[in-house]
Amino acid sequence: MSIMRGKKGLIMGVANERSIAWGIAKILADNGAELAFSYQNEGFKKRLTPLMNSIKSDKCFECDVSKTADDVNSIENMFKKFSTIWNEIDFVVHALAYSDKEELKGKYVNCSRENFLNSLDISAFSFTRISKSALPLMSSKGGSLLTLSYIGAERTTPNYNVMGVAKSALEASIKYLAMDLGKSKIRVNALSAGPVKTLAGAAISGARHVFRYSENVAPLNFNPQLKEVGNAALYLTSELSSGVTGNIHRVDGGFHSVAIPKQENFE
Ligand code: NAD
Repeated sequence: MSIMRGKKGLIMGVANERSIAWGIAKILADNGAELAFSYQNEGFKKRLTPLMNSIKSDKCFECDVSKTADDVNSIENMFKKFSTIWNEIDFVVHALAYSDKEELKGKYVNCSRENFLNSLDISAFSFTRISKSALPLMSSKGGSLLTLSYIGAERTTPNYNVMGVAKSALEASIKYLAMDLGKSKIRVNALSAGPVKTLAGAAISGARHVFRYSENVAPLNFNPQLKEVGNAALYLTSELSSGVTGNIHRVDGGFHSVAIPKQENFE
């Protein structure tokens, strides 16, 4: 298994072994990629270190994407530090999002201005800043930028609220970034995953109902496992997808394709 041999990439968003970012990292490492990581703060570093050890990675940087460019742990400064260890990078995986848990329940109409701006800054605009910062490291041979979305960007799902608005902004960013960076041979795509049991997933009120409903409705009759999301990321970060950009690739057991589920699925 060596599709990724010789490829180097940055994984952002590992909170623990259940994180989508870790599912992706594991598959990419198993396929020969050399990985570096970023973590939000020291608390996350403690959980990341043993995972990194398990794949023999020793490069990680603190980065809180909510920090402004002048902060030592900002996106911009993290990439500056990063470029001292690697002067080229083949891919970046952005698997992070945040919104105030108190607003991931009830009605979207009650969303506060502060949480709206914060959620969109962390969950959507960070990907644009990351793309800009990664550009010099991809300038000679191009690369792949990958983020994570959810069907709540396109249609409503219970309690997803402002996160749905943030994911819509993220999905629109993908298309504009793909256009801007295409001439530099940089591809920009998203995986829209079905529900996965993670820390971020559990923050959304009523997650259990969404989980059960999704697996009942999906033609494959299951929600994706980390392995399935990781395999799709392998495609989008490797040469296998060299002709693919500006794409939202769904890994949801086919859930998105169903208008009216079969009655038997609920019996
Ligand atoms: P997770 O809780 O494992 O990971 C979320 C990560 O976001 C954490 O590592 C956290 O440190 C990071 N983060 C939050 N705020 C940050 C900040 N200010 N700076 C830096 N990092 C920050 O959850 P996950 O479900 O693996 O989430 C990964 C991505 O997948 C998110 O974009 C999420 O919206 C998306 N997604 C999740 C699901 C699901 O059902 N879990 C489905 C589709 C898409």
